[in-house]
Amino acid sequence: MTGRNLITDVQNTWCPGCGNFTIQHTLKALLAEWEKEGRLLDNVVLVTGIGCHAKIADYLNINSFYSLHGRTIPVATGIKLANPDLTVICCCGDGDCYAEGLDHLVFAAKRNIDIAVLVHDNRVYGLTTGQYTPTSPLGFKGKSTPSGTAELPLNPLELMLACGATFIARGYTKKMDQLRTLIREGVMHKGFSFIDVLQICATFFPAADYYTPRVYEPADHDPTDFGKACLLAREWDYNSDARIALGVLYRKSMPGFGERIAVPIKTASEREQAVRDIIAARI
Ligand code: SF4
Repeated sequence: MTGRNLITDVQNTWCPGCGNFTIQHTLKALLAEWEKEGRLLDNVVLVTGIGCHAKIADYLNINSFYSLHGRTIPVATGIKLANPDLTVICCCGDGDCYAEGLDHLVFAAKRNIDIAVLVHDNRVYGLTTGQYTPTSPLGFKGKSTPSGTAELPLNPLELMLACGATFIARGYTKKMDQLRTLIREGVMHKGFSFIDVLQICATFFPAADYYTPRVYEPADHDPTDFGKACLLAREWDYNSDARIALGVLYRKSMPGFGERIAVPIKTASEREQAVRDIIAARI
């Protein structure tokens, strides 16, 4: 199929000013770009969870799977392992991915599953009208925490560094051009790609005035420098007034899970050697 209309005629119910529009239009622009480059869009699959973000599956005219809450990543993993020729993009919410689905995120990163995970991190459960999520700041007042949450937020980039993710980036929905570059690089990366997108929730977490003066792109950052990536990930802990680094924080080349399990094995030591050989060939 060529020149397809990439936006469906389903009525869009996102709130005016929602950052999900930026992510949708960024993906749409990328899909159009890939189509022009001769890539077959029928080989692209979008998997979503449950939440405001998930409606993107209704609005983008692309193969998609609307999965259960928190189960986006195992569905995407199954699709990729069953048909490695497919390009699998996972759109998750922060509640979806960092709460209900956290174990799946950890293990997909650890296994280096060749999928791209795009987290619409608005730091609130928007669809259910404003409860706190794992990335909500300390003291966040929502429907379930009228006096303010007593929990410190999770730092997902730091978590992904610890879990062995091979592509780790942070974007922001007010920086659409950069976001497009990050998503493109993440999807093209061979292995597990993780992009945490600071997404404005216009209704329950309208944080643009907080993010915009703090975000920056670190100059001369070498994304293969794990130690520097850790420092950049920790610089802002999702709660402080520190600067917020955007861009690709970390990238490395490693054999994916599909490649590792494809190695014919006779003994455990042969498996270990085979995986080491693949790693050495990549370095
Ligand atoms: Fe977007 Fe928030 Fe509205 Fe959901 S509640 S559609 S995330 S602005």
